[in-house]
Amino acid sequence: MKISFPRMGYSYIALKWLVENLGHECIVPPEPSNHTLDLGVRYAPEFACIPFKILLGTYIEVARMGAEAVVTSGGMGPCRAGYYWVMHKYLLEEMGLPLKIIAMEMPLLNLGDFWGKIDYLRRGGGVSLKELLRVLKVTWAKVKAIDDIEIRAHQVRPREVRRGDTTRAINTGLDYIDAAQGEEEIRQARQEAMDLLVGVERDDERQPLKIGIIGEIYVVLEPAANHYIQLLLGEMGVETDRSIYLSSYTRKNTIINLEGDLFAIARPYLNEAPIGGHGVNSIAETILYARHGFDGVVQLAPFSCIPEIVAKSIIPAVSRDFDIPVQTVFIDEQTGRAGVQTRLEAFVDLLQWRRERRHKQGKKVFSI
Ligand code: SF4
Repeated sequence: MKISFPRMGYSYIALKWLVENLGHECIVPPEPSNHTLDLGVRYAPEFACIPFKILLGTYIEVARMGAEAVVTSGGMGPCRAGYYWVMHKYLLEEMGLPLKIIAMEMPLLNLGDFWGKIDYLRRGGGVSLKELLRVLKVTWAKVKAIDDIEIRAHQVRPREVRRGDTTRAINTGLDYIDAAQGEEEIRQARQEAMDLLVGVERDDERQPLKIGIIGEIYVVLEPAANHYIQLLLGEMGVETDRSIYLSSYTRKNTIINLEGDLFAIARPYLNEAPIGGHGVNSIAETILYARHGFDGVVQLAPFSCIPEIVAKSIIPAVSRDFDIPVQTVFIDEQTGRAGVQTRLEAFVDLLQWRRERRHKQGKKVFSI
């Protein structure tokens, strides 16, 4: 079978390996472009959120590239994520595109359904149970390595001496991960990629501002959806920490997972959890970034995303109580890169001014 999946950051490298090693042909989804978004906007309901539109555009693109099925995630309420895949299915049928959607719901919701879909993919590719376990293990190793490399790149970029060196290093490093075929090769590829990043000429005298990136999972994870915000900030000399990575393993390497229950942290401000999506996370993560001495937070929110709108209405109180500025960037099909860049530049100027003022007042300034 020719199988594709939604594109979210660099995870396509690991997912491509997974699909191919389950015995199928992989149709790698192209990086979301204006064309992808145009397709999604044309066929989606007007008030659907932007992840819905980009995913629909991606599904149309991969169907036209020959994909017969996409494997995607399901979801549970109370926001719209839970019925995304059903709506996509209806819309693709209306368009006459014969694309099967295989939605993986959370295993704890329905273990039988989850296993049935895995088994369907395994048997279709003629893969034994033993081989399936090996393939899943290697895929997981790739996901972890990709996240480790990306986390490191976001620390190095604001200190690079020549603009673009970090981006070239991470791209080469990810090629190594792409080429690696087993756990040992992935371990070596990860090390070589990290060495490339360590080798980027840096100015370690710099004390970059630190900004935490929070918000809805798709726009946080997919750079094309958030106008490459981490790249933009990195090239402005700002170190960023993203609250969401695909692997929980690497999330332990960021500050967030060290703190336990996000719902408990957010509860003084919101005791109606869950509200869907990552709304509660956005509140708790703002508190955590403040506690860890970050200079500011950027919230990425798809336009009309209810969980992030709820979070945005609460965040001013958090921002005041914890003395941390938060810039919300709403994202829809009208959002342009130049507009995002201008707002980020103004935000960074504000943070720099605050840091200098604190410095004059003798307050502690965060440094890694
Ligand atoms: S979290 Fe927001 S953007 Fe994502 S599906 Fe729910 S409403 Fe849409």
